[in-house]
Amino acid sequence: MSLAADLRAHALAAKGFMPADEGDALFDAAIAAGAALPGLPFLEVGSYCGRSTVWLGGAARACETVVYAVDHHRGSEENQAGWEHHDPTVVDLRIGKMDTLPFFRATIHDAGLEDVVFAVVGQSPAVARAWRTPLAFLFIDGGHGEEPARKDYEGWTPHVAVGGTLAIHDVFPDPADGGRPPYEQIFVPALESGRFRLVSSTGSLRVLQRVD
Ligand code: SAH
Ligand code: MG
Repeated sequence: MSLAADLRAHALAAKGFMPADEGDALFDAAIAAGAALPGLPFLEVGSYCGRSTVWLGGAARACETVVYAVDHHRGSEENQAGWEHHDPTVVDLRIGKMDTLPFFRATIHDAGLEDVVFAVVGQSPAVARAWRTPLAFLFIDGGHGEEPARKDYEGWTPHVAVGGTLAIHDVFPDPADGGRPPYEQIFVPALESGRFRLVSSTGSLRVLQRVD
């Protein structure tokens, strides 16, 4: 199965950072996780304008589950003014801070996914501390600095149910290809913990299964 063509077009129309082949791999992994653990939800850390969220929402609908989309919508360090991934059109001029929530809402609305995608607006570590529901699927694509990545690993990976899936974006084993924290602070510790095994790699996306 793959994401319906109209939904895929909505994903690709959204501002964001998820390449199409990696989005399709994310969809496949979420479908498999939803089939393995029926009834458990999916959760995304780092939604930005909802691009990756559309692939996850489509998978959640097919699996009769839901996606929680966690983001403070103020942008990561690398999204701020003066940094490489800054887009001045997502700044709220009244307060001079980024606000991607309106863009996220538009993407999810236009894709017809409001019944399966629920925005959770807040700091990822604080949301993780309050979280109680085991997850079939966890996708980490939040802050890519060393500390945010480490906190996402520590805060969220315990919530993946055994048999469930951890997907990590922007994993670059070779420093020449990109920033290190998702690799060093999430991917390597997950494998070394013995709790996860590597299932597949597509571009910078890594899919791991929780085995213990
Ligand atoms: N998955 C998206 C891209 C996410 S960009 C896509 O497919 O396009 C990273 C996002 O993580 C940004 O929107 C930023 O606001 C969010 N983020 C970074 N650090 C965070 C934190 N500590 N808590 C919540 N969200 C955070
Ligand atoms: Mg990313």
